[in-house]
Amino acid sequence: MPGRPPVGDAETAASSTLMAIAAHPGDAFFAMGAPVAHRIHHGGHGVFVSLSLGEKGSVTIPPSEYGALQREATVRAAQMLGAQAEFLAYPDGQIPINDEASLAVCDMIREYQPAIVVTHWRGSWHKDHRACFEIVDGAIFYAALPALARKQPAHSVKKLFFAENWEDSEDFRPDTYLDISAVFERWTEACAVFPMWRGENGFRYDDYYRSLARANGCLSNFEYAVALMSPAEQLTRRVHSL
Ligand SMILES: [Zn+2]
Repeated sequence: MPGRPPVGDAETAASSTLMAIAAHPGDAFFAMGAPVAHRIHHGGHGVFVSLSLGEKGSVTIPPSEYGALQREATVRAAQMLGAQAEFLAYPDGQIPINDEASLAVCDMIREYQPAIVVTHWRGSWHKDHRACFEIVDGAIFYAALPALARKQPAHSVKKLFFAENWEDSEDFRPDTYLDISAVFERWTEACAVFPMWRGENGFRYDDYYRSLARANGCLSNFEYAVALMSPAEQLTRRVHSL
């Protein structure tokens, strides 16, 4: 099926690009940032795409001001990891599920040509996260269609993963554990650029994602790890013998 990651377990080149596509900057860095940092550490490239600025996330700072702070923090945190930061300015809480959004993300995918995309799992109570899942699904499909004429030529994403996220836990079943021990400190330092990392918005992201990386490390026999989930078709193996 065009646009779908090919089945099988082929490796992607370490020098290739990993793109994290999230509804909000916090999700991009806290839930998806470690795989980005890991890819860069191993000689590849990383891109963070935020569909909104998460500008309504503060209980004390007005959205116009908070959006600017979120943008600044995202650019700075991306620089600390050696990654690119891109934004699509959909309103926080109102990210639309439509072709325009999927085509906008399609254009990002065609521009940066990631081998791997990490995004939200659909099992979320947050409507923006569910929207991001749907938008990325369409974007990967469109990006790979040669007959769909856009500014850049078609590009097939080789692998898609869904990130573990405290808001996206319904039916989340990890099948892949990535050793992030080498980048754990760098990744958490980048996350700490966001004031919300320390729990200012009501959830203790710092404690949660640090502890989660430790717990996933216990489960996978690494010091620190992130757990990722693959689309079912990506786990299909085609072999000549067992
Ligand atoms: Zn979010």
